Amino acid sequence: MTSSHIPMIGFCAYSGTGKTTLLTRLIPLLKARGLRLTVIKHGHHSLELDKPGKDSFRFREAGADQVVLASLKRVALMHECPNINRDVSLAEALQFVQPDCADLILVEGFKHENYPKIEVHRPSLGRPLLYPQDASILALAVDQPPAFPTGARPLPVLDMNTPETITDFIMQYLSDQQPAPAPRMPGSTEIRSADSCMDDADPYSHSYQAALTGILETIQPLNTRISRNLREALGMVLAQPIHSPHNVPAHTNSAMDGYALRSSDLPQDAIREFKVVASLFAGQHWDGKCGENECVRIMTGAPMPEGTDTVVMQEQTEKCGTQHVRIGTGHRAGQNVRLAGEDIASGQTILQPGRRLTPADLGLMASLGLSEVKVFRPPRVAFFSTGDELRSVGEVLEPGCVYDSNRYTLYGMLRQLGLDILDLGVVRDDPASLEAAFTEAAAQADVVITSGGVSVGEADFTKAILERLGRISFWKIAIKPGRPLAFGHINDTLFFGLPGNPVAVMVTFQQLVQPALLKLAGEQDYQPLRVRATCQSHLRKKPGRTEFIRGISHSAPDGSLSVERAGHQGSGILTTMSRANCFIVLPADNAGVEVGATVIIQPFTRQGGYA
Ligand code: AMP
Ligand code: MG
Repeated sequence: MTSSHIPMIGFCAYSGTGKTTLLTRLIPLLKARGLRLTVIKHGHHSLELDKPGKDSFRFREAGADQVVLASLKRVALMHECPNINRDVSLAEALQFVQPDCADLILVEGFKHENYPKIEVHRPSLGRPLLYPQDASILALAVDQPPAFPTGARPLPVLDMNTPETITDFIMQYLSDQQPAPAPRMPGSTEIRSADSCMDDADPYSHSYQAALTGILETIQPLNTRISRNLREALGMVLAQPIHSPHNVPAHTNSAMDGYALRSSDLPQDAIREFKVVASLFAGQHWDGKCGENECVRIMTGAPMPEGTDTVVMQEQTEKCGTQHVRIGTGHRAGQNVRLAGEDIASGQTILQPGRRLTPADLGLMASLGLSEVKVFRPPRVAFFSTGDELRSVGEVLEPGCVYDSNRYTLYGMLRQLGLDILDLGVVRDDPASLEAAFTEAAAQADVVITSGGVSVGEADFTKAILERLGRISFWKIAIKPGRPLAFGHINDTLFFGLPGNPVAVMVTFQQLVQPALLKLAGEQDYQPLRVRATCQSHLRKKPGRTEFIRGISHSAPDGSLSVERAGHQGSGILTTMSRANCFIVLPADNAGVEVGATVIIQPFTRQGGYA
C-alpha cells in the first residue's frame, strides 16, 4: 500500500462523477476543524501548466531539472521526471509534500493505486462500483442509494450532498490513525496532572499547528487607527492604502550628466556637431525648445527640455569651442532618460494596509510628499513573572532563589515587535497577590502574558484563580520545549500563561504568542520565515512532538545554508539559546535526523519593530 507519515485519504471515481466539486466543498469544512491540507491531484499525462515562451518554460526547455516560480504569497515547483515514460505515481508525488505544512493529504484520482480512499459514485451514471475490486476503498460517497453487487463487503455509505457527514467520517478516520489528529482547540483539554512532560507521543496533547490555529482564530485585529508623522511610523503597521498623488519621477529627466537632444538628430554614419543652446541643472527648468542639430547641456535629474528625448553621456562627446559639441555614432533613441511615472504612476496604490513600515517605505512615502500616515495603535502588552523563588536584578539572591530572566527575554521579544509594553514585575505564588496582579494587568492592557505557574503541580492553584477571573483553557501542546500553555480571556483582555522555564518561555512566545500579537497588531504577514538547511549534527528524536532545537546556521559563500545543534537543549539552558541563531524545526512525525539530511530552520530574524 502507498503510505505516508502524514495521514492521507483519496477520492476515486469515473471521470465526471463530481470528485473535484466534492473536494472543494470538503476543504473549507476540514480547514474549519483546524487541519492544514495538501491536495495531490492526478493530472492528465499531457498536462502542461507552464506556457510556451514564458521564462519558466524557457528555463525548463534549456534543461533545468527544477524550476521554482515564486511570486506574491505563492511558490510553484516544476520538477522534471525525464527518465520515466509514464505518469508520476502517488508515492513519487508524495515526496514533494512539505511535511511541516500538512496534517492531512487529500488525493484526487490515482484510482488504480492502493491507498485509503473514498469512492464517489452516482448510480444514475450506470457505471459499476469500483470498491468490490479495491480493498483500499473505505467508504462510498453517493447521491442516491447504490445497488450493491451480491456478496460484496459492506461499506459505510455517505451522502455526497452533505459534506459535513463526509468531514465527520474523515475526522473519525484520522482519530483512528496514529498519532491522533489535532482536535479543534479553544476551551477543550484540561491539563491532566498525572501526565509527564517527558512523554513524546501523548494523545492528550494538541498538535502545534492545531494550537496555533486555535489561538489565531480567536484573535481579531485591534483596528484602532492613529496618525503618526513619517519617522514615528517606522516599524508600525500601516492602516491605510497609500496612493500616489502624482508621478514619480514627476518629470521625464536625465539619468546622466551629458547632452539632451532629439533622437532624430542622432548621427547614423558620421560625427555630427551640435549647438549647445542651454545648460540645465537638476531642479532647474528651461522654457525653450531644442531644435534641429541643437542640444542642451544637462545634469542628472534635470527635466528633459521640450523637443528632446535622448541623452548622450558627457564622456561620449567632444567639446568644440564653448558653444558646440561633437557626437559620434552608436547611440540609441531614448537612452539615458528616466520617464515620468516610471517608478510610480499617478493614482497607483503603492502600499497596502497591514504591512509593517520599513525604512524603504518611509522613503517611498516621503517621495510622494506625505508627512503623516495612519497606522494601527500597537497592542498594549502587560507581563509579569510568577514564583516565590524569583528575585529581580538588583536584589540580593538568597539561597535557593534565581534571578528573574523571563521578564528580560519577554521584554526583548515584545520590544522587537514594536508593541506598547508594561512590565509588572514579579508576583509571589500566593492566591491574593496573583489575583490582584491578573486583575490589574487585565485592566491596563490588551494582552497579559505571565510566565511560570502553569506546569504540572502548580496548575491547579493558578487555574482556580484564572477560572474564576476569566475564560481560560489550559492546554498541553505537543512541542518541545514548551508544552503547558494557558490561553483565553480575562474580561476582554487576551491572556497567555507561559511555562516558567526560560527557554520554554522563548519558544512558546515565538511559536504561539508572537503570531497572535502580530495579528492583533493588524499585520497581515505574521508567519515566521522558514528555510531549508543541511544538518551537520545527528539529532535524536522520538515521533510525537514538534521540536524546536536551538541551532547555529552558517551560510557558505555560494549561498548554501548548513546548521548544527547549538549544544545542551535543556529547557532552562539560556546559554545555548543565546548562542543559537535559529531553531531547527522538527515536525511531530520526525524520528531523528542524520548528518547531511535537509531540515527546516527558522532564523531568529527580527520581525518588524524598529524601536
Ligand atoms: P514553573 O513553571 O513555575 O514551575 O517554573 C519552572 C522552572 O522555571 C522553575 O525552575 C522556575 O524556577 C523557573 N522559572 C520560572 N519563572 C522564571 C523566571 N521568571 N526566570 C527564571 N526562571 C524561572
Ligand atoms: Mg513557579
